[in-house]
Amino acid sequence: MTQPFWGPDFTALAQEDPQIADILLAELDRQRGGLQLIASENFTSPAVLAALGSTLSNKYAEGYPGRRYYGGCVEVDKAEVIGMERAKDLFGAEHANLQPHSGASANIAAYGAFVKPGDTVLAMSLPHGGHLTHGSKVNFSGKWFDVVSYGVREDTELIDYDEVLALAKQHRPKLIICGATAYPRLIDFAAFRAIADEVGAILMVDAAHFIGLVAGKAIPSPVPYADVVCFTTHKVLRGPRGGMILCKEEHAKAIDKAVFPMMQGGPLMHAVAAKAVALKEAATPEYQRYAADVIANAQALAAGLADEGMRPVSGGTDTHLALIDLQGVGVTGAEAEERCDAAGITLNKNAIPYDPNPPAVASGIRVGTPCVTTQGMGVGEMKTVASLIGRAVRDEGDPQSVRDEVGELVAAFPAYPAD
Ligand SMILES: *Cc1c(COP(=O)(O)O)cnc(C)c1O
Repeated sequence: MTQPFWGPDFTALAQEDPQIADILLAELDRQRGGLQLIASENFTSPAVLAALGSTLSNKYAEGYPGRRYYGGCVEVDKAEVIGMERAKDLFGAEHANLQPHSGASANIAAYGAFVKPGDTVLAMSLPHGGHLTHGSKVNFSGKWFDVVSYGVREDTELIDYDEVLALAKQHRPKLIICGATAYPRLIDFAAFRAIADEVGAILMVDAAHFIGLVAGKAIPSPVPYADVVCFTTHKVLRGPRGGMILCKEEHAKAIDKAVFPMMQGGPLMHAVAAKAVALKEAATPEYQRYAADVIANAQALAAGLADEGMRPVSGGTDTHLALIDLQGVGVTGAEAEERCDAAGITLNKNAIPYDPNPPAVASGIRVGTPCVTTQGMGVGEMKTVASLIGRAVRDEGDPQSVRDEVGELVAAFPAYPAD
């Protein structure tokens, strides 16, 4: 069976729309041709891409399996049920909703299920690593809710659980959120559960970044502690771009109703099927090795960058990402991002806790190892990557010479096999 279904046909695209076809090819070259160190990105498998590029995209399926508002859902129903079962098995969860279009959509649904506009929410502050949806003034969360923020301690750069408890007692939030976009350490979910219980709040874990490490059994799971766990499927988890929600059975109805019809219309059934494929992949021993390797690589990269005079915030990492303070080398995050980009190294500038610079400049960078680990690189390569970043950031010599070495390294670990 070489073509089991009417699937992606690149020749047809190239003939009908060469402009867009060229962009697809150029983007593949870009992904293959440089070092991809954005902590929230990964390279999906060809199987996930096949499901994404399928005719399931054509199908309207508002509702849930067996309870749809449209006919003809017999096949997509099967895909969604398989995906839900795989998610519950993999994470030991009581209920799974695979329909959120993105991580932000999953979070909006969780807010919709548990709080009303004007209610108080306690979440991690953005400058200390929280996400836009955790109370930023430019986001729905900050506009519609009364969000109180906690941060990290200045001395340890770790979440200050005493501050979280004190703020919870003072403000009595209905919803407490933990999880972040730029926090390299493990989060104490039991501590958050105890604080939520103390004030009668719902505990939502936004596991967007690290859920893949949980799937691979490389870090502790928030599922036993949280009322609801929201996440993206495209970061370490290595699935299609999208979101997902796990929750206790008692919240299943509220969550399902908040995803549809409260916040979304028809689900993206091609993405739901691709999530099911990714969940199957994530349940394998190979993926568990991958998750452990992602962390070992991040630790090696952080240590290598420390050797280059760039300080890992909190002293290192327990996860797939490191936050690096560049003040010791006298370079801003914005400058570092630009210099690395010129050398074929893609990473992002990032505020560090108590950053003296404004966010658009920032004193740090964030690096992650999901992509390079998918490519097969190991801790030996991370030493090389750290020294390439060091040369690019300090702007020593010719950026082209760094770029050439980046090219040689990634050629030895191709992101997708050459065709
Ligand atoms: C990435 C991320 C999100 C948002 O995911 P999108 O798919 O970009 O909407 C939400 N929360 C956290 C903590 C994230 O890291």
